[in-house]
Amino acid sequence: MSILKFAENFSMKVFKFGGASIRDAASVRNVFNVLKHYRNEDLLIVVSAMGKSTNALESILESYIKGKKDLSEGIENLRAFHFEILKELFPNKTHRIYNEVEITLSQLEIITQTRSEEDYNLLYDKIVPHGEIISTKIISAFLNDQDYSNEWLDARKLVKTDKNHRFARVDWEQTQNLIQEKVKPGKNYVVQGFIASDEDCNSTTLGREGSDYTASIFAYSLNADEVIIWKDVPGILNGDPKVFEKTELLNQLSFKEAIELAYYGASVIHPKTIQPLRKKGIPLFVKSFINSKDPGTRVGNGLDLEPFLPCFIKKENQALITISTKDLAFIVEDHLSKVYNIFHEFGVRVNLSQNTAVSTSFCINNDPIICPKILKALQTEFSTTFNTGANLFSVRHYDEKSKMIVKESGKVLLEQISRNTYQVVTIPQE
Ligand code: ASP
Ligand code: MG
Repeated sequence: MSILKFAENFSMKVFKFGGASIRDAASVRNVFNVLKHYRNEDLLIVVSAMGKSTNALESILESYIKGKKDLSEGIENLRAFHFEILKELFPNKTHRIYNEVEITLSQLEIITQTRSEEDYNLLYDKIVPHGEIISTKIISAFLNDQDYSNEWLDARKLVKTDKNHRFARVDWEQTQNLIQEKVKPGKNYVVQGFIASDEDCNSTTLGREGSDYTASIFAYSLNADEVIIWKDVPGILNGDPKVFEKTELLNQLSFKEAIELAYYGASVIHPKTIQPLRKKGIPLFVKSFINSKDPGTRVGNGLDLEPFLPCFIKKENQALITISTKDLAFIVEDHLSKVYNIFHEFGVRVNLSQNTAVSTSFCINNDPIICPKILKALQTEFSTTFNTGANLFSVRHYDEKSKMIVKESGKVLLEQISRNTYQVVTIPQE
């Protein structure tokens, strides 16, 4: 079937429910309440691992790799967490879901029972996906029991990636073909976010919080009408309410604006999510799973930002490195290319940089392992000054008042202003 034909005949919405929206039996029931309003639509529902299971699986992985004694306890806790939910959702103990979850957990146990010399990222992708496998089995079975008929899909058979384990890159053509072959009109589907597989069918993952991205991959491949990400917030706000006071809901963001905000570190949606949707003009909604009738935020073609408000982003735990040449010669391109090569080598993104004649400053995430290595590499050629514990604030569409709010948060180490964005690096004052 050609892509065009496919698009014409098929109208589908892609929903995504994250860990917080399925953290216990009551929230799983709420998922069904949300879906009830969409009985007449064909839905493809992308689901993350339940609650904090991905973190739990990361700890299990660590115990396994380090040969720690708490490995079996970790798996036991994961089992207990899911069985608690199962008991509430499926009073009939002979329901086949008990066996299905048990099988998935024993597959995890089998992996962790043999020692392996394999690389960390490869092992990560073998172990951590179990959270999504279990959650989707539970959600799919529960919905089917509520007469919300749906088919469980295995994302590892549909989303194909390279072998870049833990941060795998999608093979779009193959993925689109596989998804279009499998997903048919007139049905609902439940599928895992975050997980995929490489050409040898080994599991891969798309990066933490990658389920939003999975929703976008399916929407792109199916030419979906829209994507809705269901969250525990009313939509996208003009700042993180845990950090900033008096935040307000944004009704509309253009794709470009959403990409900009994600670039500066806004954490509402996974940064890779927007691009595929932008390519096909598929709108994305962020809505509250508690007040599911509320309109939430729309990201799509149209107005850049409505209402037009300053948008605040804070990046914590930043390091500011200032370099100068040892003989105080001007910093020229040759020096900068060496410095950027070092950042590139360690896979570090520069969040902000600023030059003067004899020095240049770089603001990066203060990774306790990577930063000392970078400093050491820089010190072979440059003199360096280093500040940690800094915060980087960015304000898109700033005005005088919004600038002052972030500037007064501490002692200013560096300030930068462009047409649309104001940025400042501060350290908290005692
Ligand atoms: N379960 C994965 C994580 O917690 C993916 C996701 O939630 O989007 O990172
Ligand atoms: Mg999650």
